[in-house]
Amino acid sequence: MNIDRTEKYIELTQRPLADHLEEIRERALSDGIPIIRPSVQGLLRFLMGYVRPENILEIGTAVGFSALLMHEYAPDARVTTIENYEPRLVKARENFDKYAGAGSKIELLEGDAAQILPELKDGGYDFIFLDSAKGQYITFLDDIIRLLAPGGMLVSDNVMQDGDVIESRYAVRRRDRTIHERMREYLREVSDSPYLESAVLPMADGVTVSYRKRD
Ligand code: SAH
Ligand code: MG
Repeated sequence: MNIDRTEKYIELTQRPLADHLEEIRERALSDGIPIIRPSVQGLLRFLMGYVRPENILEIGTAVGFSALLMHEYAPDARVTTIENYEPRLVKARENFDKYAGAGSKIELLEGDAAQILPELKDGGYDFIFLDSAKGQYITFLDDIIRLLAPGGMLVSDNVMQDGDVIESRYAVRRRDRTIHERMREYLREVSDSPYLESAVLPMADGVTVSYRKRD
């Protein structure tokens, strides 16, 4: 299946994005900044309306596109989002000031998620969107489970590593093998964890959806 064609087609079926989101998206695409693909935009729009989360945590802000999209479709939720790359932080701050407004519901935490996650509150989030460096997902998982409220949802983007995850380690370029191994480990853990119930969705670059069991 050709992912780009599928994504373009899916985009045509969706209601247009709000003007400011479309503007940020176009600029991000032309600046080579990664943002969630149309099918994942659709999934988050859907989940915001259906789950109606109150406290969202995002790991990997980039320039704030997905944070502003979640804010658009869950306007009452507090969105906490983490980014550590200064050039992107500059643009994210700008976009949040401009489009989330004063008394903003969006809080940008600046720094490495590996340092910030341990400081956040147990069970403090009912929706977590994981979209940072793929090689780190596995190292964040214990914290993420701790941060998720019972019944809370975790969505992880880019779990297929552009299709590499399903290939044998030997079919993957040498420099991609560490990420390959770590992402496979993440998929195993997220599927096996006694705290989570998960499904792997082969959409876009691969997405997992999980919820924290109520036990
Ligand atoms: N969610 C965004 C796209 C995120 S791209 C959107 O769809 O609009 C991934 C981002 O994660 C990059 O900007 C990268 O700088 C950031 N990142 C990667 N590892 C990180 C870490 N350990 N801590 C904080 N941010 C990280
Ligand atoms: Mg992504």
